Amino acid sequence: MSDFQSFGLNEAILRAISELGFETPTPIQEKMIPHLLNTPGDVVGLAQTGTGKTAAFGLPILNFINPKSRLPQALILSPTRELALQITRDLESFSKYLPGVSLIAVYGGAPIDRQIRAIKSGVQIVVATPGRMLDLINRKVVDFSKVEYLVLDEADEMLNMGFREELDAILENVPSERNTLLFSATMQPDVARIASNYMKKPTEITVGKKNSGSSTIQHIVHLIHEKDRYEVVKRIADSNPDIYGIVFCRTRIETQDISDKLRKDGYNAEALHGDLSQSQRDYVMGKFRDGHIRILVATDVAARGLDVNNLSHVINYNLPDDVEVYTHRSGRTGRAGRTGICISIINLKEKFKIRSIERTVQTSLQVKPVPTGAEILGRQLHSLIDKIHTVEIKEENIAPYLSDIQEKLLHIDRETLIKKMISMEFSQYFERYSKMKDLNVIESGDRPDRKRFDREAPRDQDGGRFNRDSGRGDREFSGSRDHGDRGNATGAEPGFSRVFINLGKMDGLTPKDLIGIINEVSRKRNIEIGRIDLGKTFTFFELDEKFARKVVEDFQGTEYNGRPLQVEFAKKDTGPASRFKPEFRERGGSRNHDRGGYKGKPRRDR
Ligand code: AMP
Repeated sequence: MSDFQSFGLNEAILRAISELGFETPTPIQEKMIPHLLNTPGDVVGLAQTGTGKTAAFGLPILNFINPKSRLPQALILSPTRELALQITRDLESFSKYLPGVSLIAVYGGAPIDRQIRAIKSGVQIVVATPGRMLDLINRKVVDFSKVEYLVLDEADEMLNMGFREELDAILENVPSERNTLLFSATMQPDVARIASNYMKKPTEITVGKKNSGSSTIQHIVHLIHEKDRYEVVKRIADSNPDIYGIVFCRTRIETQDISDKLRKDGYNAEALHGDLSQSQRDYVMGKFRDGHIRILVATDVAARGLDVNNLSHVINYNLPDDVEVYTHRSGRTGRAGRTGICISIINLKEKFKIRSIERTVQTSLQVKPVPTGAEILGRQLHSLIDKIHTVEIKEENIAPYLSDIQEKLLHIDRETLIKKMISMEFSQYFERYSKMKDLNVIESGDRPDRKRFDREAPRDQDGGRFNRDSGRGDREFSGSRDHGDRGNATGAEPGFSRVFINLGKMDGLTPKDLIGIINEVSRKRNIEIGRIDLGKTFTFFELDEKFARKVVEDFQGTEYNGRPLQVEFAKKDTGPASRFKPEFRERGGSRNHDRGGYKGKPRRDR
């Protein structure tokens, strides 16, 4: 492996990059820098952002620049203003010790006169967006006759963004004796056309895809129901308390909607899309870049220019239609030697797309369950403990209060103090996460004994899912509790038994849902169901007495939205007139209390 010294770059450049911490060239730098320093001519570089390509072309160009000439010698085109500014910043830092080398970024939306004056005052490198560049050329106010290097950075993106005509015009107008360097993540037909029309026998330099092989990116898929997409984003954020990531959406409206919801739900999120003004976009990007915003909800185009190297997560709220876009998105994490996670939220209908993504990124996508409430609680807890470990103690700030506090806490032993602290921090979380429903879709074939149930399980308004396998047994039910069929003593119609269930309107339960649940549990569709009296938190329903006992037994060990279901025969008259008598509410309360010992082997479907 070579190092930067061996390339023959001048000392001033070596000093600057060494101060930036560049020790070992990246693969594209290793191939590109010696080539550009020693061989004139055109080059096509197939590499993505994050591979170190700015230095790969920037260092040889800086090495070549003649500071005594005040005319532009290199033009670098980039798809967005943000990327143009990023390239300019990078080249400025590489040229920190090169006397007399100056650069300018020119882009639309800023006064062109000032940019023209700046170029005329003498710059050797112009970094521009295509529209503004063409404008400068058409005005013939700037002398580009000495341009020796023309760089098309992210050529595929420039074409995707509709700059085809501008690129053609610029390539026609810059001196033909130039060296053209074209960089692109993909060799799509439009890019190939530019290479064949405007470049002379270009040397092709390819570096392995950022996401392939030994990738530092973990690709994860959560299979969900369509309506749960937003919930899943929240789960991801909740289970990664230090998340710093981008949520990619398809449309501006969706982008704004998701970010609004996230903010309303207390997350540190902002939207980035084309409906925002340039200054709004700058503001959001600045806040995100410096980490004040932790979740950026963005469209692909708006996020193009954003160059952040330490993202922990890229989340595909929807899969992009074009697989190459997946590569671009996921390549925004796991950069500069860091690890990153790309999570795609997909529904069953989209599942077939996984294979083509795997083929493109040449790595497998792991289908993982959406974190449950318990997992999230665990992670939050660990994050809290980690923070306690690393928090800096500012002695001088706390000193004045310390003795008072110590005195107040003196009587509490260490163990209790820890418990209290955790309880205090977590009371809000416990409340929220312990009630979280399972959002995972269980596919046919995954767990054969649950197949029918998962396909057909009725759901509440929020999509709550009835779950047979609660992990709780039926010991309690067959034990002390009186579950004898009292028949009509309960107020049921003749031939029916009256049954209690601890679900009601507040759970979003409708009579139709209840019938679905009964059918599901009993695996029979022909049991007659009589009157259903829906209460707020519980319901009484009547069942054909011949099957009632079997159905009640079948309900044991089941749960709904993570809550154990309690189903038993009504014990006294709970007929229509008396169904909301106080004693039943009380009984409901004692049931809950009893549930403390409600344990047993998980019950499997028969
Ligand atoms: P780029 O692909 O040009 O956007 O570069 C991605 C990031 O890697 C930038 O933050 C660069 O500063 C950094 N970088 C580029 N080359 C090297 C290198 N040889 N060693 C360490 N960091 C690098």
